[in-house]
Amino acid sequence: MSLRGKTAIITGSNSGIGLGIARELARAGADIVLNSFTDREEDHALARDIAQETGVAARYVRADMASGADCRALIETAGRCDILVNNAGIQHVAPIEDFAPEKWDAIIAINLSSAFHTTAAALPMMRAAGWGRIVNIASAHGLTASPFKSAYIAAKHGIVGLTKTAALETAEQPITCNAICPGYVLTPLVEAQIPATMEKYGMGREEVIRKVMLERQPSREFATVEQLGGTTVFLCSDAAAQITGTTISVDGGWTAL
Ligand code: NAD
Repeated sequence: MSLRGKTAIITGSNSGIGLGIARELARAGADIVLNSFTDREEDHALARDIAQETGVAARYVRADMASGADCRALIETAGRCDILVNNAGIQHVAPIEDFAPEKWDAIIAINLSSAFHTTAAALPMMRAAGWGRIVNIASAHGLTASPFKSAYIAAKHGIVGLTKTAALETAEQPITCNAICPGYVLTPLVEAQIPATMEKYGMGREEVIRKVMLERQPSREFATVEQLGGTTVFLCSDAAAQITGTTISVDGGWTAL
């Protein structure tokens, strides 16, 4: 399939899943807007690499997804948004009574409210173009819970609710909104959780991966950023035109347990 002529904006895409999704959308022909809150030469170089590899137009736009104004400015600066992937996300792990309120606020802003702001800014463009795809990167933690991740789980459950609402508000137009719910994917976000878990359980790295992380993932394998990119491209295809307001789990069977 070809997404040639479409512009895709992927929030939080200078790393991990967002970058993997951007690469797969570019391979399918979409022009790409990469984003994060930094403005380094290496961020812009990522966009140049994608353009060189695939022949699409690609650029990097700095915008802080913790700021509603920045979220809306990201979409407006791009000038066009056929495909919106709300992917930016952070994690913090602590029991509720020790959970720093500023960490709660940051996670709700970046992992949940950003998607409200970008969607609000993108929908008029999609309605005017008569076509649109919104793909929200939720999590297995948008459908189930684990201890010590209260803000992340609240935000991801919230994203699933926002997905359903946006789908209903666009149902009579060729616009869809869905959430992808990955299980564990070995990205910097997950890498960052390994040292503390090693210390907490007195385990080595491989043991933490096998016995703690992949213990809940029946396949005992990480999902990959390429698989999440492929799932996103599928949701942008004509085959997925009647798939809206739902979640697609890419979690090795986690939520089937
Ligand atoms: P990552 O840390 O590699 O990527 C997170 C991205 O968000 C980075 O590009 C980062 O720069 C960006 N970001 C963070 N704060 C931002 C801000 N204020 N403004 C703009 N961008 C910001 O992590 P990842 O694993 O690739 O996570 C991507 C998404 O996938 C997140 O929403 C995460 O919750 C979700 N997810 C990840 C996993 C996993 O196992 N890795 C599982 C389920 C869901």
